[in-house]
Amino acid sequence: MSHSEFVYNGRATRVVFGQGSRSHLERELHTLGKQRALILCSQEQRALGASVTEQLGAHVVGLFDRATMHVPVEMVVEARAIATALDADCVIAVGGGSSIGLAKALALESSLPILAVPTTYAGSEMTPIFGLTEAGLKRTGTDLRVLPKTVIYDPELTLTLPVGLSVTSGINAIAHAAEGLYSRDANPLTSLIAEEGIAALARSLPRIVDRPDDLPARHDALYGAWLCGTVLGSVGMALHHKLCHTLGGSFNLPHAPTHTIVLPHALAYNTHAVPDAMRRVARAVGHDNAAQGLYELARANGAPIALKEIGMTEEQLDQAADIACKNAYWNPRPLERGAIRALLQRAFDGSAPDQDF
Ligand code: NAD
Repeated sequence: MSHSEFVYNGRATRVVFGQGSRSHLERELHTLGKQRALILCSQEQRALGASVTEQLGAHVVGLFDRATMHVPVEMVVEARAIATALDADCVIAVGGGSSIGLAKALALESSLPILAVPTTYAGSEMTPIFGLTEAGLKRTGTDLRVLPKTVIYDPELTLTLPVGLSVTSGINAIAHAAEGLYSRDANPLTSLIAEEGIAALARSLPRIVDRPDDLPARHDALYGAWLCGTVLGSVGMALHHKLCHTLGGSFNLPHAPTHTIVLPHALAYNTHAVPDAMRRVARAVGHDNAAQGLYELARANGAPIALKEIGMTEEQLDQAADIACKNAYWNPRPLERGAIRALLQRAFDGSAPDQDF
């Protein structure tokens, strides 16, 4: 991708990064000029939500602990009613993309500012992208009102992230940066950020698998996640994200493992169309081939590598290829149904990526 002409959109999120940085929550609320926070978390992370509630004392008006994946609209209505009844003036989302997704859905309707405390590597905290599920249909969009005002990244909060989810969530983050490198909006700044983000995750994930309590490795991975999330929030995505959206939305496959399995195959599909971007991805993962390097990163670290392992059936492959090709979207290589179907078959079987089809 040539960078001789470009447009760069900076995003205005304040980022506070560092070990123990959750202790700055009160200061950050003051900086935002807010004092009546509603805390949002998932049921599994209720203890974390409760501890933030206790830490902030009188600055918290309530705790909503039922954030779930895909942001069902009924849950948003319920959380919104609670925020209104309690007269909340901001939301603090603690957790992964599900908690932050709920905060975004609230902000979309109410303009309540978001302070996010992410505990996975998904990257939603750095983007103005939202998703909502109504009557089984997931709708996504972009709106600057949902971009968090402040993000507190505390690597200590990721120590409890199970190893399996750490690897798939980390590769989910890498996917943002990899597609960012060949995005049609790619620019010199996001490309630098992307390469550094991929490298930070590629070097830290194996260390986390080795020792999940390795704090410097957790620090490095969260740093990488911030960078990759920044890329996702700044430039458009392509084939890989659309395929994962199709698979997640139509077949209810889990988010991070789906990204992990599809990424090497989506990169292989695009390899010959964007050689410079692929060289940068490969350099960042320390391999001579981007797609193969990411396939090996997943496999060597115990991540699933086949869609059949995570709940997809072979009969669904034709339908998946049809849906993926029906929705028109930009990709550096035009979409060819036969090649997309072959890509999905390899991802289903767990075969190595093939860039020559
Ligand atoms: P998640 O938020 O659903 O979390 C997965 C599970 O891990 C949950 O049970 C959660 O409670 C638990 N968990 C999270 N952090 C933990 C920790 N540190 N310790 C122990 N358990 C922890 O998963 P996710 O992958 O972060 O987010 C996926 C969702 O986010 C999807 O719905 C996806 O569409 C959305 N997403 C949106 C964007 C965006 O820009 N809008 C970007 C990425 C992902």
